[in-house]
Amino acid sequence: REDLLKKSEQLALVGQLAAGVAHEIRNPLTTLKGFLQLLGEDKKASIYIELLQNELNRIEYITGELLSLAKPQATSFKINSLKMIMDQTVEFIKIEALKNNVKMVLSIEEVMFECESHKIKQVFLNLFMNAIEAMPTGGTLNIFLVKEKSDAVIIIQDTGYGIKEDRLRKLGEPFYSTKEKGTGLGLMICRKIIENHKGTFTIESKPNEGTTVKVTFPLISS
Ligand code: ADP
Ligand code: MG
Repeated sequence: REDLLKKSEQLALVGQLAAGVAHEIRNPLTTLKGFLQLLGEDKKASIYIELLQNELNRIEYITGELLSLAKPQATSFKINSLKMIMDQTVEFIKIEALKNNVKMVLSIEEVMFECESHKIKQVFLNLFMNAIEAMPTGGTLNIFLVKEKSDAVIIIQDTGYGIKEDRLRKLGEPFYSTKEKGTGLGLMICRKIIENHKGTFTIESKPNEGTTVKVTFPLISS
């Protein structure tokens, strides 16, 4: 069991660094993309150019993610239905679940919460996708949303390959990913968003059995 929110100081520093690096990379990137577009009209070179374009798109995506991480927080908190946000996100990942032979079991209560809905959607999306990606040969994805006292409690449970204990500590560190196409930024972004909503975030896992992610949000604003 690992409390992922204890690294907030470390996170602030990483955020500053990330913003600096991302800005430096972004401008030459835009120029490169422009010239590649022009070159793309030459037939022979087109395979290489496509590869280059894919790599550039990936760098662009990562710098975008890093920038969003480092940006000062917008404060457009509104009362939202967490159920609605969750239902929309579930709808979005249904095809992905189907493709991976993942059965979804949902238990979603109505809970109203003052939050930034698109940020919360981002958290749900990454946690759901991580769960599905952990079950490449199928399994069950349990998703709960309940109101417990003055908290919204969200539990996302998969029957996937799990996480080894020594790896559990690395979660939420930037660029830690075990996936070929992973960025290792998802959990870090989740952690930051949850922190901004004064929530808590814990992960429990057993190798070859599965992973349980628990997120709570306080419903009474301070
Ligand atoms: P990414 O998904 O791009 O790899 P994340 O920050 O979302 O980056 O996750 C980091 C790493 O944590 C993943 O590469 C994976 O090894 C591990 N992980 C996250 N969620 C799960 C899960 N539900 N089951 C198993 N491993 C997970
Ligand atoms: Mg992820």
